[in-house]
Amino acid sequence: MGRVKQTARNSTGAPAPRMSLGTVSSPTDGEVADIATKGAKRTSPRFSKKPSANKASKKVKENNEFCTNCRNGGKVLECSTCPRVVCEKCMEIPQMTRGAKFICPNCHLFPGDAKAPRIAPYLGLSSSNAPLVLHGGASQRETFPLCSNPHLVVLSLRLASMPRAGSPAMLVYHHLYPYIPNNIALVELEYDFGTAEGLAKYTAAIEAVTDRIEKGDLTSFTTFAVYIMDHTDPERGDLHFTLLPIMKVLNTLIPDRLGRLIKTKSTPKSMLTLLACGSIVTVKEARSDVVAFTNKGFFGCTVAFNQMDFQPCIVNMYVMDAAQAWFVQGKKPEAVLNEHHRVGAHTDIYVFEPNDGAKRYIWSHSGRRPFGEPAPLQCVICKSIKSWGPPKVVRSSPAHALCIILMCTECGHEVKKDRPSGFTKFTSGKINTTERGDWYMQMFLENSLPTESLGQCSTLFWSKLNLNGSHGKRGLHLRETEIHDNKDQLS
Ligand SMILES: [Zn+2]
Ligand SMILES: [Zn+2]
Ligand SMILES: [Zn+2]
Repeated sequence: MGRVKQTARNSTGAPAPRMSLGTVSSPTDGEVADIATKGAKRTSPRFSKKPSANKASKKVKENNEFCTNCRNGGKVLECSTCPRVVCEKCMEIPQMTRGAKFICPNCHLFPGDAKAPRIAPYLGLSSSNAPLVLHGGASQRETFPLCSNPHLVVLSLRLASMPRAGSPAMLVYHHLYPYIPNNIALVELEYDFGTAEGLAKYTAAIEAVTDRIEKGDLTSFTTFAVYIMDHTDPERGDLHFTLLPIMKVLNTLIPDRLGRLIKTKSTPKSMLTLLACGSIVTVKEARSDVVAFTNKGFFGCTVAFNQMDFQPCIVNMYVMDAAQAWFVQGKKPEAVLNEHHRVGAHTDIYVFEPNDGAKRYIWSHSGRRPFGEPAPLQCVICKSIKSWGPPKVVRSSPAHALCIILMCTECGHEVKKDRPSGFTKFTSGKINTTERGDWYMQMFLENSLPTESLGQCSTLFWSKLNLNGSHGKRGLHLRETEIHDNKDQLS
């Protein structure tokens, strides 16, 4: 069971030529293959081997190509219970006896997907009581993550007027390419539904792509990262160029025939990312359409953003990281949020899963963005800039903040932000008052969503309320109820 195989290395620092070695699996379970001679004879790299339909239908466990610790290929030992492999640079590969099972470090730590790590000497070989020896330390952020090699199509659906260069889809393609150079394809389509010709042209083009996936040059690909790049109408949440509701646009961009094909083929499940202005999720009707489209089950998840003046260059690094987390490490797009407070300073992130409503992730920084609400750039009374003193966080426990109070050091004016109802702290541990802040999660089932827009015009809320309500007073408490009561004045 514990198989040793040779895989190509992919670090730039390695002396071996990149991705050109070819790989060999050992002929018999539990035996070390004669890598040197077999590797030399082999002409086509293992990557180019297309998974047969037979193999896919049997759901044979396919192990990773790259080491769970160093992300390089080389002589690797396959875990008997999960897809991970460990390379000979990271671990002394033991003598394998026939039938011996190898347990990778992750399966040792988390047997049966246990939540807490099991701390015990690493007896990774079923046939031996001697602990296995790991070398050195970690060279990546995660501890023993999956390092999968998906057969991935990055599908870019871009409004014709938007620039191709620097598009997030292209960045994702370049980002993942070094790990799966023979397993990744970039397919780009432009669309302009403003004219009948434009609509007909796109419909023909997406049909052609569907044919390629079904029976053409893309049949060997089994998972899809789809990016829709568009503008949205700020009032309606419609995609910019048309009066059509977004459901109709999504159905045109990803017709059912393509969607069903994606759903049937996808291992791992595919991912849809909507790169459009925030009203696509802040306007209830638009968001309901995104939920309904997600519920068709074509994609394992849909990711969207609520910033009205959406700036792709601020979220690009997150989008790339989320794709890597999903397709390479088997993690959800929210799993990497803690590394991305920069994106949280720009926008909340919405994650939709089929029949699971919407989850909104909000970055909270007690001084800059208490509970996701941007603090005013200047004191609303004395107009000083950066005059808010150290924020006061009122808490009921080390991990549970009740409200955040900011006071102007120049004039003493005070504003207070209560924790909105339904906010669950997403990042673990006590409240983080450093620049990293905390992420919160707000979950809704679509039928219980509030009717007003979410996450819009935040700065306006703070300043208008102050000016209308209590100009010149000190110690004003801004409360959620006041915000709702005053919403008419904002429209
Ligand atoms: Zn390694
Ligand atoms: Zn394992
Ligand atoms: Zn002031």
